[in-house]
Amino acid sequence: MIDAHCHLDLYPDPVAVAREAVQKGVFVVSVTTTPAAWSGTKKLAAGHKSIVTALGMHPQLVATRAKDMEQFEGLVPKASWLGEVGLDGSPESRESLTEQADVFRRVLKASARAGGRVLSIHSRGAASAVVNELRAHPDAGTPVLHWFSGTLRELRDAIEVGCWFSVGKPMVCSKRGQALLEKVPKHRVLTETDGPFVQSNGQPDYPWDIQSTEHSLAECWKMEPDALRSLVHGNLQRLQSRG
Ligand code: MN
Repeated sequence: MIDAHCHLDLYPDPVAVAREAVQKGVFVVSVTTTPAAWSGTKKLAAGHKSIVTALGMHPQLVATRAKDMEQFEGLVPKASWLGEVGLDGSPESRESLTEQADVFRRVLKASARAGGRVLSIHSRGAASAVVNELRAHPDAGTPVLHWFSGTLRELRDAIEVGCWFSVGKPMVCSKRGQALLEKVPKHRVLTETDGPFVQSNGQPDYPWDIQSTEHSLAECWKMEPDALRSLVHGNLQRLQSRG
């Protein structure tokens, strides 16, 4: 099982969640929201090849944490994945969009300088703007749009610019998400929980809850769950080998 976007450091007991994810055989991309959290969060992955810690600068924190970008840039050479990074154009964050775009460009440039990284990207309310930045920075690495919620047209542009997609419960369980999934290239898909932000029945989703998303996605694509799981595993291997 693969959880390509999970905030391990934000659960009440991150050590226990990391341990259980390893025991249950879930590969986890443990994303962070500020570079200050990276080294502490990396400790959760110590000794576990199945947890990779991504270096992040969340767009919704840019308004207060943009000063952390120097630290971010210094750490990029040591990180194999970057995330959560991106742009947020929703009403609460729209005010900082100009500053967010400056920060996102610095992220993409730093990634390109390091030879390109895999990036887990937030694009809520800003899919077109994210795609435009990616188009302007073709050497930044491989973009993975997490929880894509744009239009079909934006999806088409994202595919054209080389984006991958990490798909979670909010996407597989909504009509709108399912319509997008019909057009998403199957060879560029990973699964994600976005726990603990995404919840079921008032409880945060855990990395091993990815199983229900696998089942829904398999159903949506009329595949057997086992075939879906090996498709996503193959995708991850290909993604990791391109760096
Ligand atoms: Mn997230």
